[in-house]
Amino acid sequence: MTSPLQQRVLARVNDCITQAAAQLSREFPLPKVHFNQRGRIAGSAWLERWELRFNPVLLIDNEAEFMAEIIPHEVAHLIAFACFGKVKPHGPEWQHIMQSVFQVTPRTRHRLNTSKVAPTFSYQCGCRTHQLTLRRHNNMQRGKQRYQCLHCNEILRKD
Ligand SMILES: [Zn+2]
Ligand SMILES: [Zn+2]
Repeated sequence: MTSPLQQRVLARVNDCITQAAAQLSREFPLPKVHFNQRGRIAGSAWLERWELRFNPVLLIDNEAEFMAEIIPHEVAHLIAFACFGKVKPHGPEWQHIMQSVFQVTPRTRHRLNTSKVAPTFSYQCGCRTHQLTLRRHNNMQRGKQRYQCLHCNEILRKD
């Protein structure tokens, strides 16, 4: 079931896609949208899958920020991938789309109210920052488990 709030997110995603299509004079398919992002990450873009994932807990407390910034941010990752292929996630192509297509200041970190989500731990790979849960962080620290980035295949390491 899609809540009215989630419907508004879907509508905003559609608007962003329409805006990008008009600005760049080409068509983009509507992405699949899921509300299953966890932790303190607001959203993520899955390029080959043409899919967006948003955090349903953060969405409830931060609707305005999602509409103004997070949705365009994630859609811009898809558009950058469609236009330029595999480029640096927050590199010049993505920044250009944020600024000239969506007129949004490109920022890589959000400032949301995260009081209702469990704390997470930052890890790095070759391409981005990952937020790990306490359980995964403990597994890594005890050497019980190693986690790999799905995008670049590197083993995650602490910041
Ligand atoms: Zn991003
Ligand atoms: Zn990576």
